[in-house]
Amino acid sequence: MIPMIDLNREMLYLKDAIQFSINDVLDSGIYVLGERVEALEKRIANYTNTTFGIGLANGTDALLLALKALGICAGDEVITTAFTFVATAEAIALTGATPVFVDIDPHTYNIDPDLIRKAITPRTKAIIVVHLYGRAAEMTTILEIAQRHNIKVIEDACQALGTEYGGHKAGSLGAIGCFSFYPSKNLGAFGDGGMVVTNDKDLHEKICELRNHGSRQRYVHSSIGINSRLDELQAAVLLVKMNYLDLFLERRRSIAERYTTELSPFAKTPSIFKDRGHTFHQYCIEIDHRADMQQYLKEKLISTAVYYPIPLHLQEAFAYLNYKNGDLPVTETISARILALPIFPTMTSDEQEYIIAAIRDYYLVN
Ligand SMILES: *Cc1c(COP(=O)(O)O)cnc(C)c1O
Repeated sequence: MIPMIDLNREMLYLKDAIQFSINDVLDSGIYVLGERVEALEKRIANYTNTTFGIGLANGTDALLLALKALGICAGDEVITTAFTFVATAEAIALTGATPVFVDIDPHTYNIDPDLIRKAITPRTKAIIVVHLYGRAAEMTTILEIAQRHNIKVIEDACQALGTEYGGHKAGSLGAIGCFSFYPSKNLGAFGDGGMVVTNDKDLHEKICELRNHGSRQRYVHSSIGINSRLDELQAAVLLVKMNYLDLFLERRRSIAERYTTELSPFAKTPSIFKDRGHTFHQYCIEIDHRADMQQYLKEKLISTAVYYPIPLHLQEAFAYLNYKNGDLPVTETISARILALPIFPTMTSDEQEYIIAAIRDYYLVN
């Protein structure tokens, strides 16, 4: 079976370097928020050209603490997309604020800036922009709207570490950028991990406080925080993997390019826009008879996946917001048509050839 992602293959490729680095942590006797976490924070801040990185337990906490640091709370509204992983809106709800879902652009699958304008009310305090599948959202327009209305922009760049937009890295454009190091992400740990980046010293200090029980000084607690520390073992693994990030992203891009060349006569492949980058965390096509295609590919031993089959405004968890079918037509149409194909840096050319041939055969017969 060709998997969606093969982490084992990647691990074997990096095993010696990672093992060395892990042993180093074991010998150090320091396991949480030590020098490796600090080094990783500097490394990610450098990579994204931001001033501060703050290591956290996961990407969901990155979103939650970003919102909390900006003072978002009950009574506030936060605009976002319903075509994303649940964590984006979950973090908003956990602060007590109300997620306000707006529809997406049918070509980028990212939040539609024109619809943001229409959704702004006096209670709107922030926008969480998601760079879905690794594709940069329309940041220039969104930042303009936000500035005009005095609204903060948080970037959910959990799928987009390394993505570029007009010469800037995703995560560095808004007030705070959020990353996840979940194993399958562009930069994946051997467990959970996350990070926020920012250029704002006060936000940096506030998030450092919030990740450690609202404390800046041991046993002195100035706010209600959480435990969201990043541990040294994960940081050690991630520091090794950072050496390969750009190489791996280049592999993703060239696999994506080949899919697009070969599959665009048959299916809607991702639109490409100059100056607005894509790191292809996922490679998704749009097709008519998705269930048929998935079944056919499964019989050919090819994995596929759907990100995401039920948009957030129609999830039971958000039923209290009273959205209904038809409220976000583009989101609903795309979520019924989208199909993710296997893509990962260590995928072989033969594997991709086999996948492309199978899809081509499907269309020649059907
Ligand atoms: C993975 C992901 C998250 C959450 O990250 P975790 O580390 O799993 O908590 C948030 N938003 C998006 C878009 C993601 O893909």
